[in-house]
Amino acid sequence: MQLQSLGAAGTVTGSAHLLTVGGKQYLIDCGLFQGDAALEARNTEPFPFEVAALRAVLLTHAHLDHVGRLPLLVKRGYRGSIYCTPPTLKLAETVLLDSARLQLEGYKQDLQKARRMGQEHEVPQPLYDEEDVYRTVALMRPLLEFGQTLTLEKLNIRPERAGHILGSAYLVTDTPEGRVIFSGDLGNRESGLQQDFTPPPEADAVVIETTYANRTHRPLPETLQEFANALRESIPLGGKILIPSFAIERAQTILYVLKQMMDSGEVPRVPVFLDSPMAARATHEYFEYGDELISEVRQILHDGEDPFWPSTLHVVTSSQESQRINRYTGAAIILAGNGMMSGGRIQHHLKHQLWKPSTSLVVVSYQSPSSIGGQIVSGASHVHVLGEDIAVRAHIHTIGGFSAHADQDDLLSWLSTTGQAHIWTVHGEVAVMNSFIDLLATQGRTAERMPVRGAVDLLTTHFPQGRPFGEVQMAQHARMSDE
Ligand SMILES: [Zn+2]
Repeated sequence: MQLQSLGAAGTVTGSAHLLTVGGKQYLIDCGLFQGDAALEARNTEPFPFEVAALRAVLLTHAHLDHVGRLPLLVKRGYRGSIYCTPPTLKLAETVLLDSARLQLEGYKQDLQKARRMGQEHEVPQPLYDEEDVYRTVALMRPLLEFGQTLTLEKLNIRPERAGHILGSAYLVTDTPEGRVIFSGDLGNRESGLQQDFTPPPEADAVVIETTYANRTHRPLPETLQEFANALRESIPLGGKILIPSFAIERAQTILYVLKQMMDSGEVPRVPVFLDSPMAARATHEYFEYGDELISEVRQILHDGEDPFWPSTLHVVTSSQESQRINRYTGAAIILAGNGMMSGGRIQHHLKHQLWKPSTSLVVVSYQSPSSIGGQIVSGASHVHVLGEDIAVRAHIHTIGGFSAHADQDDLLSWLSTTGQAHIWTVHGEVAVMNSFIDLLATQGRTAERMPVRGAVDLLTTHFPQGRPFGEVQMAQHARMSDE
């Protein structure tokens, strides 16, 4: 039983793991690398296995960094099944179509620039197009149900609730050699919409994400208080309140919270514009599969209401309509993508509103330091948006607690029921993984980083590129002598 990481070992994107059991190969997730040019160049690399011979693909959830290379796999000859939960199928279709559209737009812009320099032959083609996405969706089988076992030859796969986004699962895989659990992305137990993850069973090995393994999220009640305060301060200014938001999970959380706060009178009712077609489609799926969410959401649904529809909501579809919002006078909340303000319709709103002192920018998502959002939250006086230098005169509110990812406490809690399973860390920065491995050692757990290249035998403890085994043993020993 071998595992080879094809992404997300030593980085937080591009999740893809090739599992070999009984001579057959299975791919767990097939995510896109996102970030700088060097990282994104890895998307074009050939898959290090015979694509047509792959037995099956298993998905944990629909985020682009877990599904974004699927159409490329299909374009390169994969014709087998892609197994996922029913909501993951719906969300993945939305995510992949958006990705194909963005790639095409980016390609056209690059081509235009390159033509002016006479270098049009050097512009790389999009990785895939909408046709490839539709071919991919046709291979998707929504047969993974929480708690139910799917058998593929010698592999039994049981998805369990991961509590990260709608439809997200971790996968318990049983083979004749032992049990391995793939965490996918695990959820924040105070996420606001998702039920908590199901505690995993004991296993021989676990492959766990470590995105936020070095931090603890602010408690949800404090986050909600901060959010309400930001809105109460912003609304009397009479300007636009911009909330840049990721289309999946964050947009729905914000819509749900806005509805709650406006219905209870905690926040005055003002128009809310959802200016993201992708978020609108995803919100429809959250409504459709609302029974998967926390009991408060289920109760609203059972009362015949839409939990994601504040009474003042306008869903904006066309880009003309989006531009017309700028002419609307008076306070209004605008939710638009993308979350880091590095693209999408939020940029038009930044260009038209960010320089006005009556505007408020309420940041509810992580901002990478180099993104436009990152520059704004770190205090830039001007930012470059859509070819113009825009003064930052808006009021900036940064709300840090709305994460969909497990924090350190969540990860430790999830691991606590896995017995003495050997732990392989993925999907995290190297320094974060190393400190988490140290922490686990103090708790008597053995853990190592999944190597970036090359396969490992999941069930034998050798440390090819991770930490030397002796160090872990010593840390364990030190703890035992303390006791
Ligand atoms: Zn995710």
